[in-house]
Amino acid sequence: MANNREILLVKRPRKEPASDHLTITETDMPVPDEGEVLLRLLYVSVDPYMRCRMNEEASPMTPFELNQPLEGGAIAEVLESRSPKLNAGDIVTGNLLWREYSAADPGSLRRIDASLAPATTALHVLGLTGLTAYFGLMDIGKPQEGETVVISGAGGAVGSTAVQIATIAGARVVGIAGREDKVELIQKLGAAEAINYHEADFSQALQAACPEGVDVYFDNVGGEISDAVYPLLNKFARVVQCGAISSYNKPHDQGPRHQKHLLASSAIMKGFAVHDYRDRFPEGLQFLTKWLNEDKLTYEETIIEGFEQIPDALFGLFRGTNIGKQLVRVAKPGQEKE
Ligand code: NAP
Repeated sequence: MANNREILLVKRPRKEPASDHLTITETDMPVPDEGEVLLRLLYVSVDPYMRCRMNEEASPMTPFELNQPLEGGAIAEVLESRSPKLNAGDIVTGNLLWREYSAADPGSLRRIDASLAPATTALHVLGLTGLTAYFGLMDIGKPQEGETVVISGAGGAVGSTAVQIATIAGARVVGIAGREDKVELIQKLGAAEAINYHEADFSQALQAACPEGVDVYFDNVGGEISDAVYPLLNKFARVVQCGAISSYNKPHDQGPRHQKHLLASSAIMKGFAVHDYRDRFPEGLQFLTKWLNEDKLTYEETIIEGFEQIPDALFGLFRGTNIGKQLVRVAKPGQEKE
């Protein structure tokens, strides 16, 4: 009986992902095996790395398979349990298929206690987003009190968290984003300066915002924005290469070279994947939870309603339509099945 829907990758994009690359199709309702649970999707996280997984070559990640459902961080409700590990009504998070109803192994799920923090925080500030900002900044960037930290993509999920963590560390933060409401958010979150990179005189504005140069550059975007940051690096600066969203839709990306700037500043530049820190996730979550409870850390969410809106929410990341974390609400807990 087909009263379930899923989202499949049907064509690999060469540039911007669009509606002809994904399709929503009907599929059968799953029946959980002994030891499994039946899940109903509640919230889906859309993330820039998903665009990289749409390519045929996505190393070190596994490419999404053609004509198979996409998957990613999500929150679901347990509708039926055939496992002693979870009960009907539990709210869980995990890497789930973009399918409204799925059967899953409880071993791949984590129960969320929504009395401690809103459930959606598991998909951002108390999840991989927060951990990315925490480890990238604290383990690679290592900001010292009074140092200047520049953060690109600062109005997004990782960036807005990094702005706050750098502020907690006592650094002077300069955030970069592409919309005025993001600029206002970055300032509200504690940055000394926030700059819209669409300004005609962006490079000069950045230089003026960093009169003592740049000690840490937390880079979420790469491209021309980073080209403007490299000449400002101070001696022994640290460049945290967290992401490069400006290049994800470009089969070839060529820009000014940064080697001479690293050489001149004796800077280090390090890329990372948050999963490199898997063994230290409890440490990161402990700090993030503490700061959240102490109101030193907050978060912004952009929530779109409806399973069928998931593709547009993903595409919107590349047009900057989100402020803070982009989520899609698919259903409410306890909602009657249609
Ligand atoms: P996000 O920042 O919430 O959303 C993406 C934002 O990127 C958009 O809102 C847009 O903001 C900006 N953007 C899109 N296209 C751009 C372009 N061509 N040039 C400049 N900015 C552009 O996404 P997120 O989840 O927090 O991820 C941020 C970055 O971190 C991504 O590069 C992602 O791949 C990376 N990441 C890395 C790890 C890791 O383990 N290393 C983990 C998570 C995320 P504007 O309006 O400001 O343009």
